[in-house]
Order: sequence, then structure tokens, then C-alpha cells
Amino acid sequence: MTAVGDLAQPLGHEIAPGWRVERYGRSRDDVPLRVFRPDDDRPLQGLLTAAQHGEEPETLLLARRLLERVPGADARWAIVPVLNPDGLLAGTRQNAAGVDLNRNFPTPSWGPGPSFTFPPGIAPEDRHRPNRRNRSATGKGPASEPETQALMALVTRLDVPLVVDLHAPLELILRTPNAPDALCAALARSASLPVHDEIGGERRASFDAWCLSVGRAALVYEVEHAGLPELCRRHLPGLEALVRGELG
Ligand SMILES: [Zn+2]
Repeated sequence: MTAVGDLAQPLGHEIAPGWRVERYGRSRDDVPLRVFRPDDDRPLQGLLTAAQHGEEPETLLLARRLLERVPGADARWAIVPVLNPDGLLAGTRQNAAGVDLNRNFPTPSWGPGPSFTFPPGIAPEDRHRPNRRNRSATGKGPASEPETQALMALVTRLDVPLVVDLHAPLELILRTPNAPDALCAALARSASLPVHDEIGGERRASFDAWCLSVGRAALVYEVEHAGLPELCRRHLPGLEALVRGELG
């Protein structure tokens, strides 16, 4: 039997020392948005983000593993493990207002919804346009959602030149034209991922498009549908080197 006192102890793996946790906003459903940043004043090389789509929880788990493996004193990147806690809790792509946050950023390509994407877990051979049945709103206007506003303010405040945004399941890296070549190539080589300048489809008003519009670079890093041990084996070495600032 567990003593009541034991319940006050942290459960599971703790994150490595040297990280400072800050609240940078609240979700539509009033869940705190949290960023982990090295507890020192050195300039950051970038911001790693995950779980913008709540149906991609493996990205949160990869971000969490990084926080466990890399001490804050050795890190040069800030990490947001969950951009969309409402969606993560509900298991949905969208936030609590039904908005796909990755269609809500204030770029010239923003438009009123709906937006359609493939349902989570769809077989690769069924990824044909008529099967885009996952319906999202794009928001009442550009940056209508609190998560979007908070993330924009965070990127501006941290003043990071580069964002790496984790997604699933396309198994590729999508880069903005201003992304650093050597870093992008090293990250791709580490996980044997192809690099694309565009992937077609309907990607209006996305986070990476907004980053580019404000003069920052972005990589959309899409992992495959796979079990966590395989994902960790393939993707953590490169992502860890990234967070440690070893890729340049
Ligand atoms: Zn996604």
C-alpha cells in the first residue's frame, strides 16, 4: 500500500537539471502553456516545439525524452513539449474551439475554413484527397486562438532565429528557404529523412509560414507512424545534438 506521503514524490522520470519552466500563456480551455528553457542567459539557438496537433502525441514524448536526457546547462534550445494541450487531452488535431492551430497563423494565406486533413492513423495507401475527412476550423480570423497568439509572442520574446516543429506521420523534413543548410542536412542525415522545400497539399497559414514571414527560419520535422522505441532510436540522436547546439 502506498503511504500518502509517497504520493507527493515525483512520479516517473524527472527532467534533467538546469531547465527553467515558464508559463507563456493559456489554451482556449484554460490549460497552462509551458516552455522549458536553459536556466542561464546565453542566447538561444532555437525553439523546438511539439504536439501542435493533439493527435500526434508521439511528438510530445520525444520532446519529453530530450528534457530527460539533456541537462539545461548543456542545452542551447528552448522546448515547448505541448503547443496544443486541449487537443492532446482530447486526442484531436484541433484545439478546444475546433481550430487547427497550424492553419490559424496571420499570413497572407489565411482564409476562412473549413480545412481538411487526413484522419489520424490512416493507412499510407489511403492518403488520397477524397479521404481528407478530418474537418477543422481555421479560426474566426488570423491568430484568433490564444495558443497561436501566445506562441507568436514567445517566438518574438525568445528572439530565436530557428524553429523546429515536430509532427507526424509524413517521415520528412520540410524547410523554409532561409533555413540553415548545414544544420538541416545534419539533422536529416542523422535520421535518414528526406528534405523537402514544399510538400503540396493544403498548408495555409501554418506556423512555419508565419516564421518565414517574420524573418525566422523553420523546419517541420515529421516522424513516421511507429512505436516509441523505434522513434527514439531513429530520431533522438539528431534531435539531442540539435538541442545541445552541436549542429551549428
Ligand atoms: Zn501535425
